[in-house]
Amino acid sequence: MRRIYMDHSATTPVDSRVVEAMLPYMNEKFGNASSIHSFGRVAKVSLEEARESIAEFCGAHANEIYFTSGGTESDNMAIQGIARQLSDKGNHIITSMIEHHAVLHTCEWLEKEGFEITYLKPDEYGMIHPDAVAPAIRNDTILVTIMHANNEVGTINPIDDIGQISRERGVVFHTDAVQTFGKIPIDLSQLPVDLMSMSGHKIYGPKGVGILYVRKGIKLKPITFGGAHERNRRPGTENIPGIIGLAKAVEICEKQMIKDEVEIKKLREALYSIITERIPKVKLNGHPDQRLAGLLNLTFEGIEGEALLLSLDLKGVAASSGSACTSGSVNPSHVLRAMGIKPELAQSSIRFSLGRSNTMDDVEYTATNLIEIVDRLRKMSPLA
Ligand code: PLP
Repeated sequence: MRRIYMDHSATTPVDSRVVEAMLPYMNEKFGNASSIHSFGRVAKVSLEEARESIAEFCGAHANEIYFTSGGTESDNMAIQGIARQLSDKGNHIITSMIEHHAVLHTCEWLEKEGFEITYLKPDEYGMIHPDAVAPAIRNDTILVTIMHANNEVGTINPIDDIGQISRERGVVFHTDAVQTFGKIPIDLSQLPVDLMSMSGHKIYGPKGVGILYVRKGIKLKPITFGGAHERNRRPGTENIPGIIGLAKAVEICEKQMIKDEVEIKKLREALYSIITERIPKVKLNGHPDQRLAGLLNLTFEGIEGEALLLSLDLKGVAASSGSACTSGSVNPSHVLRAMGIKPELAQSSIRFSLGRSNTMDDVEYTATNLIEIVDRLRKMSPLA
């Protein structure tokens, strides 16, 4: 059976060039970057070269890049780190209702500790507007954390304007850029962003490695304790193979990001056209233009999203409902609900996220099967 992967927002296959770059760091260059002998020095040099090249890619300075275990840890480090650092100044944090759980659950935890959190509502396209952020800022606001692009619907938020407003009001601004880093240009020398979270496995790099960008001058309390790694901000022996893999993945993105975006968008548009031409009662979720190239979140009225996913899976097509972290749960997506979509329609929604490996042939195979599946499920469904 054919197997087609259209779940690149959940994770991506590791690029073979990335695997090749990582391999020597598993065996002959296995040293601990903190060791003073030659094995350690080799690891340390490679670690700092990786930091340097990633910093250059996103307009940062090498000493503003901290390696972590992924997007979740980066979000925690940023949000908890600022909350603990600035709790004397205030206890109010602004975020949105559509953030990834790495942000939402961190904020909810802080709420239990006495912090006050404002959860901004997006518009119908899943966008957080700067004019919603401005009036929410108070004298005791210490952090604004709004994601760059949403992982379920792909809408890209105007983080330059949101960051500018936060900066003018003297509030630290964090953005979760896990879905945009390596996919669309990000220049931190121009963007008014203080903290940014990024992850390796969304850009054809390995899992278990990520980055937190911390602008020079921003102070954070550590959230884990141990050695003096990562300039005392993130203890633990550095994941050198992972970091080397991440740097290689970034290098590849730098070369082909623009071309990839064009190609992937073409495929997404083709998939959308065939589906909407051939299947009635389908609605696009997310912003029509301001969104990620590969992402297509659709509501198929009258069908359970899970049934649709399982039927697609039987045909070898992998898509998802909501984010990977919430699939398996029966609750409708918190993102779609926040956008004002009724629970039954939210539950009839699925996400295709296309990537580098997809072809027009994949699109045609997926669409052809989808037409047949939707028709069959609608005939059986009491909802239809
Ligand atoms: N933030 C967003 C927007 C995500 O999409 C994800 C992963 O799905 C994460 C954070 C978590 O990243 P990681 O899997 O690297 O912990």
